[in-house]
This record gives sequence, C-alpha cells and structure tokens, in this order.
Amino acid sequence: MPPLLRSALVTGAAGYVGATLVHHLLQAGTQVVGLDSLERGHADALPSWVPLVQGDVREPDTVREAILRFGRPPDACIHLAARSLVGESMIEPGRYHAVNAGGTQVVAEACLEMGVPVLTLASSAAVLGAHQAGQTHLDEDAFVQPASPHGASKLAAERTLQALAQTGRMSTVSLRLFNVAGVGYGCPERHDPETHLIPLAILAAAGRVPPLRLFGTDLPTRDGTCIRDYVHVLDVVEAMLRATARAVQLQASGESAYDLFHVGSGVGHTVREVLAVCEDVLGVPVPVDENPPRLGDVAEIVSKSNRLRQVLGIEPLADLRRMVAECAVSLGVTVRG
Ligand code: UDP
Repeated sequence: MPPLLRSALVTGAAGYVGATLVHHLLQAGTQVVGLDSLERGHADALPSWVPLVQGDVREPDTVREAILRFGRPPDACIHLAARSLVGESMIEPGRYHAVNAGGTQVVAEACLEMGVPVLTLASSAAVLGAHQAGQTHLDEDAFVQPASPHGASKLAAERTLQALAQTGRMSTVSLRLFNVAGVGYGCPERHDPETHLIPLAILAAAGRVPPLRLFGTDLPTRDGTCIRDYVHVLDVVEAMLRATARAVQLQASGESAYDLFHVGSGVGHTVREVLAVCEDVLGVPVPVDENPPRLGDVAEIVSKSNRLRQVLGIEPLADLRRMVAECAVSLGVTVRG
C-alpha cells in the first residue's frame, strides 16, 4: 500500500511535537526532511539519517534549501517551528509576531513559489482566548479573541494560510493544538527552562525544582484554578498526518481548500485535578506555592473535537494518568506501582 503521505518537510522538527511527528511520519512511510533552528530543539531527538537543515524559518533561503533537499517538491510542509509560551509572549510580543506570523509568511511564500501543494500549520488553542463562563467546549466555529501575543501571532499565521488557499494553488490546514502531553517514540518534553504544568509538577514532587507556582486560585472555575484540555502527543501527530494527507488528496483533485481542526481530548482538568493525578501516580505530594494568575492566561479552555473524530476518524485518548506517568518516566522520576 502506498504511504498516506509520500513526502513532507517538517519545520520545528527537533522540538517535542516535531520530533514525535518525524518518527510518526517515518513509521508511516513518509520521506521526511527536517528544518529547525536548534535554538530550543534537540537534534539528537531525530534519527541521525534524517536530513536536518539548521536555520530560521524567517530566512527565505533556508526554507528554500530545505525544500530543495527533496528531488521534487514534497507533498506537503508541516509547519511547527514557532515560539509557543503564553507567558514569554507577554514579555517579548515583537519576537512572537516575527517568528510565528512572519515565519509562517516566509514558509508560505516559499511553498507557493516552489510548488509545494499543501501547507499544514500547528496553530494553538490560544487563538480562542477567553469565552464566557459556561461556553467552554469550543469548536472550530467559536469566536476568536486571543488574550496574549502568542495567540494573536498564531491567529495571524492562520489568516496567512487561509489567504494562501484562496489562490487556488495550494490547500492549507490549521490544527489548533490544546495542551499537548504524554510521550511518543521516546521523544520527551525537554524545554529549558521548563514552564509546562505536568513536567514542573513532577519535578517539584521529586524535589528537583522549587515548589510548583500555582497560577490563579480564585478563577471562575469549579475549584478556582485554570481548566485546560490535555491531549496525547500521539493523537496530535496522527491528526497532523491525516489532515495533511486529506489536503493533499483535495488539492490533487483540483479542489483547493482551507481546513481547520481543533485537536484536543474534549475533557477539561483544573490545575488542582492535574496535581492530584500527579500525586496519585507518583505516590508523593506536589509542593505548591499559590500565586496570582499568569498574565495572558484564560480561566478555561476545552475543545469540542467533533471534526477530529468525524472527519479525521481520531478518537482522542483522554487519559491524564497515562500522560503524567509517561512524562514522569521520561524525566527519570519513579512512578509507583
Ligand atoms: N500552570 C501553573 N504553574 C506552572 C505552570 C502552569 O499553575 O508552573 C498552569 C497555567 O496557568 C495553565 C496550566 O497550568 O493554567 C497549563 O499551563 P502550561 O504552561 O502547561 O500550558 P499553557 O496552557 O500555558 O499552554
């Protein structure tokens, strides 16, 4: 059987999701070239024989060079290279816009110019921003009102993809990722500094970092802490593969289109619930230091992933225990029983 996707350029290939995606594509028989600045990514997360172009997506020549590594234009470019921290974006809004919006524009133009028929963007649930209490399970029709420069920069990137499809020369897809967690193909989260809840809570429980700073305890949620939708990284990379392959087919049949998917588990957990799962998995308490909410964070954001299920045929694994246990093992922290 031919592979679902013959060839793909993956930007941000050496990051947590990027490296997991590269392994997943290789397993699916896809020819892959990676592009990564290695500012935050780790080259050793990829098999040594996968071609990796080191450079910045804001440089047109770098993107062109990566496309030229294929004998003929690849089926698609899956664009993950980005800055992705809400808190950091409040401090460096210009950099976020330059990398996420500007970088996407450069990648889009290079794909258009060099005949890459499909561009898939790893967007973010952060484009959705705050919604009214009660209006929490958000589908692709939900109003977008980013609450941070990170969300705003990803929304600008989505708009670029939408415009690209209007040319009729490309099909494009945005996947709005919710909170990606878990481990696939032995590619752990390796952020430096680590800012994400699950790894930080595990490291705090193991005494390897100071007590977890719990951001926001008086929010309009069931226990006063933020609610997020944790989705397994293997569901995320499968969604990227299937959505991209679908766009390749559409484009080949002469139907250019822009498509949008929410990629979440559809289940929301408060921060305190996540900490309780960590304590249960590890068998030790997570020390906590209560703090005011983090600038740019919204109280609650959970996906309604009907299109993920119905159009892409993915039933997301909503198993927080498994995601926490996988993360703990990858950090070398003992999991009880
Ligand atoms: N969070 C927290 N303390 C931390 C890191 C995160 O209380 O040290 C909270 C954060 O406010 C958010 C949730 O945990 O509500 C998930 O944060 P994370 O940074 O993992 O992902 P984000 O939702 O920002 O993409």
